[in-house]
Amino acid sequence: MAEKKHVKSVTIPVSTFENVMKQFDQAAVRLHVDPSLMEFLKYPARSTIVKLPVRMDDGTYKMFTGYRVQHSIVRGPAKGGIRFHPDVDLDEVQALAAWMTWKCAVVNIPFGGGKGGIACDPSSMSKDELERLTRRYTAALFDMFGPDSDIPAPDVNTNEQTMAWFMDTYSMHARHTVTSVITGKPLVMGGSLGRKEATGAGVVITTREALRHLNIDPAKATASVQGFGNVGSISAMFLQKLSVKVTHVSDVFGGLHNPDGIDIMALMEYVKEHKKIVGFPGAEAYDRNEILYADVDILVPAALENQITEENAGDIKAKIIAEGANGPVTPEADAILQKNGVFVIPDILCNAGGVTVSYFEWVQNRLGYFWTEEDVNVRLERIMTDAFAAILKVALENDVHMRLAAFMVAIQRVADVVQLRGIYA
Ligand code: GLU
Repeated sequence: MAEKKHVKSVTIPVSTFENVMKQFDQAAVRLHVDPSLMEFLKYPARSTIVKLPVRMDDGTYKMFTGYRVQHSIVRGPAKGGIRFHPDVDLDEVQALAAWMTWKCAVVNIPFGGGKGGIACDPSSMSKDELERLTRRYTAALFDMFGPDSDIPAPDVNTNEQTMAWFMDTYSMHARHTVTSVITGKPLVMGGSLGRKEATGAGVVITTREALRHLNIDPAKATASVQGFGNVGSISAMFLQKLSVKVTHVSDVFGGLHNPDGIDIMALMEYVKEHKKIVGFPGAEAYDRNEILYADVDILVPAALENQITEENAGDIKAKIIAEGANGPVTPEADAILQKNGVFVIPDILCNAGGVTVSYFEWVQNRLGYFWTEEDVNVRLERIMTDAFAAILKVALENDVHMRLAAFMVAIQRVADVVQLRGIYA
């Protein structure tokens, strides 16, 4: 069981978007950008809230609230996923949209940032109800989306099936099939090879680069992974392929521990059948609230935002935090982690593999010509290693942590385009 009991309640910050603004401000003061333009770069360009009536299986109607935020369209169409979760609200979606702007700029793909979400509990809804909700959302926000304006993708609790419903609904309204309006689609309808694995692959490419930078042999390293959805499970799988021992994992129901390393492929098979990690025979049960404090070299938070705050940052034992999730570490926690010498690979770099292969999917859809898995992976590897090297260089040159360096690079890239395009008035 757990090595140490924490049972600590972590206060969730009032505003996640506030956290992004703090991250932005810390970087902005170090850049030579016209301060009057900073306001423009910082706040979302467009935020829309829609009411979504949905007929439930029992014949009653239920109202849901849907959101789509385009934080920036300066470098290209808004890009970012759609999240289904009870906690979705405007503040969260604005924060996630802003992170997408900076993420796309960090890996230098020609997109701005967007995000969408619906406040709902998908675990309590049937497949038919989810389909009607997805279609209503797509129709309600039809005017915002488009291959040249705003391109969604999967996020927490949405998947290839959700993307298929979205694509079909959009296409019915457009009167022709439009594959490039959404990424993360099933392969048979224009998805890209390697997209499902891309976020986890990117997490592990950047982790491998961090291990190299810190002179840690992957074969001697251990890891703890919080979250066993698409990002957590695939990150764990690639960590194991890198010969890192994944000793701890958790999901929303519980945790697992095996000091000799958990067989991740076997666990993924188990989860396919049981829908949770609890009960997996190849590991002992572990308190899921302790997962962040495991005595490991690498911690991969791959669940939700605001997990590591000023209240628990001091208890982290890992040497590297690889942010599979968006926003798992608050700005206050960042300062503590930095003081304690923890190397944080920031979300806007670490989990950018997903949107990078989304970009490849969009390119393939527009070309009508599909790449091999090897083409995808070679290009992903290059983009992620180049981005890691570029951010590390800025971090070392300016003696700042990786998140600050990533924000500096990203904001500068967007600001350069704004300055060249000029302000139309
Ligand atoms: N939802 C993912 C993210 O947060 C992927 C977004 C995309 O592929 O557009 O990066």
